[in-house]
Parts: sequence; C-alpha cells; structure tokens
Amino acid sequence: DTPVLRKPEWIRVKAPAGGVFSETRKVVRENNLVTVCEEAGCPNIGECWAQKHATFMIMGDTCTRACSFCNVKTGMPAPLDIDEPRRVAEATATMELQHVVITSVDRDDLADGGAEHFALTIRAIRQLNPKTTIEILTPDFLRKPGAAEIVIDARPDVFNHNLETVPRLYLSIRPGARYYHSLRLLERVKERDPSQFTKSGIMVGLGETKEEVMQVMDDMRSAGIDFLTIGQYLQPTRKHAAVDRFVTPDEFKGYETIARAKGFLMVSASPLTRSSYHAGEDFARLRDA
Ligand code: SF4
Ligand code: SF4
Repeated sequence: DTPVLRKPEWIRVKAPAGGVFSETRKVVRENNLVTVCEEAGCPNIGECWAQKHATFMIMGDTCTRACSFCNVKTGMPAPLDIDEPRRVAEATATMELQHVVITSVDRDDLADGGAEHFALTIRAIRQLNPKTTIEILTPDFLRKPGAAEIVIDARPDVFNHNLETVPRLYLSIRPGARYYHSLRLLERVKERDPSQFTKSGIMVGLGETKEEVMQVMDDMRSAGIDFLTIGQYLQPTRKHAAVDRFVTPDEFKGYETIARAKGFLMVSASPLTRSSYHAGEDFARLRDA
C-alpha cells in the first residue's frame, strides 16, 4: 500500500451549504438527473452549486471504462433514458443557466457510443433555452465510426474532450483510451465546424514531467484546441491511482503563462481547476471580449 500524501494548505475547499446550494440540489433531484459534481466527488461542489453551476452527467451513473483516477462506478450501464434530454433542458430552464455543461459516462456498449443521445440533449436544451451556451465534455468515441460527427453536427458552442494526462501515463491512468485518438477527435471537430470552440484538459501530479506537459500543450495547439484546463489530481479513494506529488500554485501559474504564450484563447490552471470549473464565466468573458 502506498502511503497517502497529505494535502497541502492550498487544497482548501468550501463546505457545501446555503440556500442556492440547496436549490441546485433540489432541481437535480426533482429532474432525476446525475451530476459529475457528485459522482466524481468534485472538491468544488460547495462553491459551484452555490452559484448554480452544476455539470449534468447523461446516460447514467455507470461507466463501461475504469480509469484509475476516476470515482464514477464501472459496470454494465442501464439502457438509455429517452426522456433524459427533456429533463436536462427543463433543469437548464429552471436554473436559468446562461451556460450549461453536459458530460457523460463512456458507453462502449452502445453502437454509437451515445452520440445520438448527446445530440438529442443538445437540441432539447437549445429548443427550450435558445440563449444558453452549451458546452459538452464527451467520451472519446473510440471504435464508433461516425459518432463524433453526429455530436459535432448538433452544434454545441464548446466541444470539450479531456486528454487527462501525458501519453506515457495512458496505460496506467487511462487504459482503454488512446492519446492520439483523443487528440484527433478534437481536431476533427475543428475541421468539420470551425465555429465551435474546442477544449481539453489534463490533471497534473500523476508523475508527468514539465517537458511532457509542454509537449501535450504543443500537440493540443497543433490540433487547433482553443481552451485548456490544468488541475491537480486528487485521489478519490485508496483504490485509485496514488498522487505522485502536489504541484504548487506557482508552478500552475507558470503553466498558465506558457499556455497563453502558446496561443490558447482561454487557460485555467490552478490546483482546483476542473474542466467545468468557472466554465460559464470564462466563456462569457471570451464571448464578450
Ligand atoms: Fe461540478 Fe465542475 Fe464545479 Fe466540480 S468544477 S462542482 S464538476 S461544475
Ligand atoms: Fe470516469 Fe470517464 Fe474514465 Fe468512465 S471514461 S471511468 S467516467 S474518466
């Protein structure tokens, strides 16, 4: 058993509480929705939900993959809930969201990897909330020919897919995924619809080197990726991959400076950055600039 590293003082999170937090929880429960905020045990839930930022996770709470950093449960998922797109759209309306983030588990069991369900969800949100900007965080659609195109053609505003870590660590951290396939997915989004913003992110503190992180940034820029998120990996339970080290706030600032110099339009790099952290504000700032 590897000893668990003590969390440094900069990994401080607000306890979930307050009126808006409870309202967010109520909308999630009443619409029978799943959020990655809860399933992944995200440290920002107190802060985000108190500002009505929740990331909806569609297609169930059970994933067909088992990434060693992720707290989502693995197994054989239930059939798709065809009423879910409507409920996500309703929740978006009830919460009056200006920006909504939708993610999902991986559904390797479905012929299209869940692409059509993603597209239906995007369309349902649009129909009921024409002004809301839509960000999706998708699976990799590995070995699902044509799936990515179905999602791209539903025209989300931001298409996010996380590379998660540097290629050398894929086998241990993200088995079942392929680095270059994931990169290529985002490149295909830009080729097919240049009006969509593309976004990706990695976790640090898993054993990667600074040079490897810079190489990932270069690969992302070559694939035309617009937005970048970098956050500290936190071990959800002792069964998950161990934290190699805690990257300091200064090192994060260094990454942010480098990333901006490499041409990313939006960069969020801090210990508690997650792909959906402050996604709405960041996007609004960029849109209004
Ligand atoms: Fe949810 Fe994302 Fe906020 Fe975490 S950072 S609580 S996943 S919206
Ligand atoms: Fe978690 Fe996504 Fe990996 Fe599934 S594919 S285990 S939801 S990170």
